[in-house]
Amino acid sequence: MIKRSFFTLTRPKLSYDSVEQNPKKPESINIPSNLTLLLNEPLDNTKKLLIQKGDSVEKGQKICLYSDSAEYVIAPVAGTIRVIDAYIDALGNTSTFLVIKNIQTQTSDTKAKTYDLKEDIASADRYLRNLPGAPPFKKLADNKTKINTIVITCADADLLSTTSQYIALNSMDKIKTGARILKNIIGAVKICITVPQDLNIQGEFDSIQVFRTDTTYPSNLPAMILKNHLNMILPAGKTPEDLGVCFICAEAAASIADAYETKSAGAEKIVTIIGKQGTRYRVKATIGTPLRKIFDLFSIHINDQDRIIIGGPMQGISTYSPFHPVEPGMDTVIVQDRDEIPEICDNACVNCGKCVRICPANIQANILVRYLAADQYEEAADKCDLESCIECGLCAYVCTAKIPIYQYIKLGKHELKKLRAEA
Ligand code: SF4
Ligand code: SF4
Repeated sequence: MIKRSFFTLTRPKLSYDSVEQNPKKPESINIPSNLTLLLNEPLDNTKKLLIQKGDSVEKGQKICLYSDSAEYVIAPVAGTIRVIDAYIDALGNTSTFLVIKNIQTQTSDTKAKTYDLKEDIASADRYLRNLPGAPPFKKLADNKTKINTIVITCADADLLSTTSQYIALNSMDKIKTGARILKNIIGAVKICITVPQDLNIQGEFDSIQVFRTDTTYPSNLPAMILKNHLNMILPAGKTPEDLGVCFICAEAAASIADAYETKSAGAEKIVTIIGKQGTRYRVKATIGTPLRKIFDLFSIHINDQDRIIIGGPMQGISTYSPFHPVEPGMDTVIVQDRDEIPEICDNACVNCGKCVRICPANIQANILVRYLAADQYEEAADKCDLESCIECGLCAYVCTAKIPIYQYIKLGKHELKKLRAEA
């Protein structure tokens, strides 16, 4: 559900957080007895499922729903499929979730199934989409898009998260190996890496171009990296891939190096957890672990109406269940106490203009939100440049009337895409 914005979470702050000088190792979360995987394909009762409840799966096994499925997940553990059911996300998209009952004797060191992995895009896309960090092999394999630049991001995109910086500090050699493999996979491609200005990274980068990013939000968002470091403006409605640039997070690059070394897919994800008082924890959990298990470890009690936000405070989306699983692309989870959440209300815009002045894309967010609130998505795109929005969330952050402008924009873009697909 798209609800109110959640900016009372911590003291207002627009500088990126820096990782500690000597960060502790992440707390390892024991592999739970049941793991949940989200598969980006809806169930279709006109087709015959390839998997059934009760089927056994190996650790590392690729699981598809149907013989013609383009989507898959990788079993993070050996076990038995217990549940196959429909899942509806916060924007109303339908997909499928699977629950795998873990064979209790395995540990995170238990060997995974190995693959016949070659350094080419077809092979990487066939097995490695679900690696920790969610490398975008599906986009890279799409031969409509010619990628000529890869940007590996060691600078976290949203506030409060330090996951990418932690991985940059601790696994830079693996990131560089992942960069070299990506170069082989994609062909003639320029590799760049973003590193926060204040992150102490030493060593040689050889042919990798290093972009030192500003500590002020939203400098680390892809549209800003394109503008400030690659001298490119992202046109309305386009993606960086349309310009030939693909962004890959530091964890994905390190996971690619591991995958090619072991010929198997890792499943241990590093996540930054922000508790109700703003305390930061860093964990290593198996993909599919219910968040509840992590909260229990740190005695974060989830009450009715508390909010769990997947992502940072500016760009995150709420989930309605503490059993939501750790996903390959999940960097940050924030828990907000129900007493800290602003009441849902229909405050009217007071025309203060703050949202317009702060917008890095020069959008008249106060007018835009009126179209969106009236479900006029085409008009929002035509008259108010909805598709130029870089989704930084700053307009909602500063809004005097506490209008959830960012959430309106996310929903508006989603609805616009649906309308156009239907047309
Ligand atoms: S989220 Fe708001 S401030 Fe950011 S680019 Fe979009 S309209 Fe502008
Ligand atoms: S910041 Fe909020 S109240 Fe002020 S003009 Fe923008 S939408 Fe209206």
